[in-house]
Amino acid sequence: MKVHVSKLIGFCPGVRFAVEGLDYLVLQNPKKRFFLFGDLVHNNIIMNDFVFRGVNVITDKSKAIGYDYLIIPSHGISSLVKNTLSPTVVDYTCQNVLNLRLAVENSIKQGYSVVIFGDSNHGEVLSIALDFPEIIITRNPLDVSFTEKFVVVSQTTMSRDDFNSFVSNLGFDKEIIVKDTICPFTEQRLFFAKMLLKSVDCAVVVGSKHSSNTLRMLELCRSMVPSFIVEDSSELNSDAFIGFNQVGVFSGTSTSDKQIEEVIDVLKTF
Ligand code: SF4
Repeated sequence: MKVHVSKLIGFCPGVRFAVEGLDYLVLQNPKKRFFLFGDLVHNNIIMNDFVFRGVNVITDKSKAIGYDYLIIPSHGISSLVKNTLSPTVVDYTCQNVLNLRLAVENSIKQGYSVVIFGDSNHGEVLSIALDFPEIIITRNPLDVSFTEKFVVVSQTTMSRDDFNSFVSNLGFDKEIIVKDTICPFTEQRLFFAKMLLKSVDCAVVVGSKHSSNTLRMLELCRSMVPSFIVEDSSELNSDAFIGFNQVGVFSGTSTSDKQIEEVIDVLKTF
C-alpha cells in the first residue's frame, strides 16, 4: 500500500513546549518530586512514560504533598488555584490557551456575558469556568439564554466551520461580539489534511481518543474516506486495509513523531 503523510503532523508548538520542557526538567532533577495537574498533554503513551519516570499526576492541589515542582499542563489551570501556588510552579500553559483565557477575562471585566463554544468537560475550558462560573460553555446555540449584548469565543481546538455555524444560529436579534480564539495550528493542520484526503482512498489518524483535536481530525477524515484511529502501530490490523491502495497518515497535535513513524513503517508492509 502506498503511504502518504500529511504536511503538518506530530506535535504542535504548545505540546512540544510542554513535553520537551518536562522531559528536560525530569532528566536534570532525578531526585526531585514532581506533581502534575492532570494530563500534561492528551497522549496516553507520553503520560505513561512520565508516570513511569516518577511524575505524580493529581487532580487536586491538596494531594501535592512534599513536592519540589508543581507542573501546570498545556491546557492550563484555574487562576484561583494558580495564585495559591508557591514559586516552584512550572507553567506549561500554551500561549493560545492563555489568549482564550485573556479574551474571557477582559470581556467579563468590561461587563459582558461570555459564551465559550466548546466541550464543557475539556480541561482548557473547565479551568476557565472554575474562575468565571457565570460563563456558558456549549456547542448548542439553544443553550445560550443571554438576551443582551454578549461575547462569543471558542475553545482553541474547535473547527472554524462549526464555530461559524454556531454563531450564525445564535439569532440575529442579539448583538454578538465574536472573538477569534481558535488555534491557528489546528486549523492549518486540518487545511493540509483536507488537501491530502482528496488523493487517498483511506486514512489513519494517529492519536489518543480523548484528544479533542485528534477527534476533530478523525471527523474530517471520516467525512471524506474510510478512516481508522490508532494510538500506536500495535493497533493496526492489515485485514482492515484489504482493497485500499493509497493511505493518508494524519495526527493530532499531541502525537509524537515516534508514534507516527512506527505507524508509517507498519502501513508500508501492508
Ligand atoms: S493545539 Fe494549539 S492551543 Fe492546543 S497546545 Fe497546540 S498550539 Fe496550543
